[in-house]
Order: sequence, then structure tokens, then C-alpha cells
Amino acid sequence: METCCFQCGAPLSADEIAIYRRIVNRGAEQFLCIHCFAKEFSVEEKLILEKIEQFKKMGCTLFH
Ligand SMILES: [Zn+2]
Repeated sequence: METCCFQCGAPLSADEIAIYRRIVNRGAEQFLCIHCFAKEFSVEEKLILEKIEQFKKMGCTLFH
């Protein structure tokens, strides 16, 4: 089953799931896409993408 954003229903990438877990709740089972995440937390989507890259470089185990 495909995992979708619980607000807009958009299909989620592995990165979107990982960043949600990393920032919001490690045990989350529902996730937001980058667009809804940005709105919810009043941040720019660009910043979220930068965070994803940063966590990947750090070798965070949530990002494969
Ligand atoms: Zn969404």
C-alpha cells in the first residue's frame, strides 16, 4: 500500500516520510508531504529539502 499525505492525499517519497519522522515524531505512522509540512510548520519547502540533504550527509539512519 502506498503511503500518502494525511492532509492532501499526495503519494509520499521515502524522504518525506523520513524527514517527518526525524523532525516531528520518530514513531509517526501518518505523514505530511513537503507542501503540507511547510504550511503546517510555517517554513519554506526549500528549507525542508536542505534539511533532508543535511540529515543524509550526517548518515541519519532514517534516510536510506
Ligand atoms: Zn500534503
